[in-house]
Amino acid sequence: MAKLNNNYLKLKAGYLFPEIGRRVKSFSDSNPEDSEKIIRCGIGDVTEPLPLAARDAMKSAVDELGSHDTFRGYGPEQGYEFLRCAIANGDYRTNNISVDDDEIFVSDGSKCDTGNILDIFGNNNRIAITDPVYPVYVDTNVMAGNTGEANDDGTYSGIHYMPCNPLNSFVPEIPDEPVDLIYLCYPNNPTGATATKEQLEHWVSYAKEHGSIILYDAAYQAFIQDPEIPKSIYEIDGARDCAIEFRSFSKNGGFTGVRCAFTVVPKELMAETDSGDRKPLHPLWSRRQSTKFNSVSYPVQRAAEALYNDEGKNQINNLITHYMSNAEKLRGACSDIGLSVYGGKNAPYVWVACPENIDSWGMFDKMLNEANVVITPGSGFGKAGEGFFRISAFNSDENVTKVCDRLKSIL
Ligand SMILES: *Cc1c(COP(=O)(O)O)cnc(C)c1O
Repeated sequence: MAKLNNNYLKLKAGYLFPEIGRRVKSFSDSNPEDSEKIIRCGIGDVTEPLPLAARDAMKSAVDELGSHDTFRGYGPEQGYEFLRCAIANGDYRTNNISVDDDEIFVSDGSKCDTGNILDIFGNNNRIAITDPVYPVYVDTNVMAGNTGEANDDGTYSGIHYMPCNPLNSFVPEIPDEPVDLIYLCYPNNPTGATATKEQLEHWVSYAKEHGSIILYDAAYQAFIQDPEIPKSIYEIDGARDCAIEFRSFSKNGGFTGVRCAFTVVPKELMAETDSGDRKPLHPLWSRRQSTKFNSVSYPVQRAAEALYNDEGKNQINNLITHYMSNAEKLRGACSDIGLSVYGGKNAPYVWVACPENIDSWGMFDKMLNEANVVITPGSGFGKAGEGFFRISAFNSDENVTKVCDRLKSIL
C-alpha cells in the first residue's frame, strides 16, 4: 500500500481559526439579533480595495495578452526582469542596499516561500522559532520532518522556541544552544513589535559566527514609520552572508487575493554539504523554483511593478496611513481603559495584555459576547502568547471607531 507522509499526522489540526469560526458561529446562532453587529478584527487580511495604479497596469497587461503581437505565454520562472529590476531598485538599491536583479525570486506569496524554502535545507538543522509566531514556520518544519511529536502544551520537540514578551520587547535573546535556521519576522505578526538595528546586528553577528541562516520575514516592512528601524535585514552589515529575506505585496499593496511576493537570496549565502563543503544556496533555490514553479501571471507581475511608480507609491502610502491611523485609535482605546498595549506603532497589529484574571480565550469570549468584536487570542500563536490578544488594524475607519467605543464600554 502507498505510504503517506507521517509527519503530517504530527500536526495538530489547524486549531486557531477554525476554533474562532466555531465560537463566532455558535454566538451568532444563539444571538441572531447581535450577529449583524459583529466586527471582525481577527484574521490578518486587508480590507481596502486594490490601488488604481495596480488595477490599471493589470488591465493593460490583460489586453496585451489579447493580441497576437503582444501575447506572452510562460514567463521566466524567477519572474520577469522588469519586476525583479523594479524591486531591486525600489526596495533596495535606492536605499543603498546592494541586491542584484537576479537575487530576487518572484513568487505567488510569502506564505509559500517561507514554507518552500525548507526544500533547499537538510534535515538535521536545529530550528529556532519565536513564540508567539506566524504558524506557517512551525507547521512547515513539522511537515518536513524537522520536529518530533507535539507536546501537550502545543509545542513540538526538536524546535528551539524563543519566547517573546514585554521583558525582551518581543525580540528574542540569542539562544543558549547552537541553532542553524533562525526565523525572524519584523515588524512582527502577531505582536506588532519591531527590531532595532542593534538587535538585528546581534542576530547577524551570531549567525555569521555560527554559520546559521536567518530567514527574515519582512512582510510588514511598509508599515514602519520610525526611520531608525531597519526595513530590511540587509541594512545590517554582513547580512548578505547569512540571511534570506521574504517580502510580499499582500499587506502593502492589498494583494492578499491577487498573490505576489518575492524572496531575496544573496549569492554570497552559503550552507554546508554532508561532507562539510560550503556551497552557495542561490543555485539551489533557483533550481527549486524553476523545477516546481512557473512564476506568477503576467498581469499580476505588471500590477506589482506599478506599485513602484510614483502613483503606486502614493497609493500605497495612503493605504498605510489609513491602517496606521486605525492602529493608533485602537492603541489609544486600549490604553484609555488601562490595558498594557504593545505594537501598532510600526505594524498593523495591536498586541494587548488581557485584563487581570482573564486568559486569551476568556478575553476572546468576552469581546465576542459583550462587544460583538472578534479578536485573536494570543495563545493561538503559541504558548508565550497566553495572556494577550491581537487586534488587527485592517478594517474600515467606521468599524475601528465602533470597536474602540465598544471596548471602552465593556471594560
Ligand atoms: C501576511 C503575511 C505574509 C504574506 O503572505 P502572502 O502569502 O504573501 O500573502 C507573510 N508573513 C507573515 C508573517 C504574514 O502575516
